[in-house]
Amino acid sequence: MSDSEPPRPRKILSLKSGVAAPGGPPPLERIPRPAGHKRVVVKAPEPPPAPPATGDFKCKPCGTRFDPPTELADEDSVRCPSCNARLGLASDFRAEPPNVDKLRARYLKK
Ligand SMILES: [Zn+2]
Repeated sequence: MSDSEPPRPRKILSLKSGVAAPGGPPPLERIPRPAGHKRVVVKAPEPPPAPPATGDFKCKPCGTRFDPPTELADEDSVRCPSCNARLGLASDFRAEPPNVDKLRARYLKK
């Protein structure tokens, strides 16, 4: 066996330059959509703009629901977060049950 192939001439690869091929790019994006089938963009659900009013107490002067701040000392006065009225001592709010007779707030939990 002596049919060794002669060395092939090296093929020079013609590198394509950035010129687009005549005829434009293949129509990959041209998938026809069924008529009347609108594309709906689904957005991520947004949180509600304002949380519902919560709180175990209700300010008697203005009716705002609130929770007494836990960082207050027992002898500190709890103020309404809305009208800033002094509603009573923190200790009276924390009492079990709350000392509503001394408070200017209603206790909503029962
Ligand atoms: Zn108030």
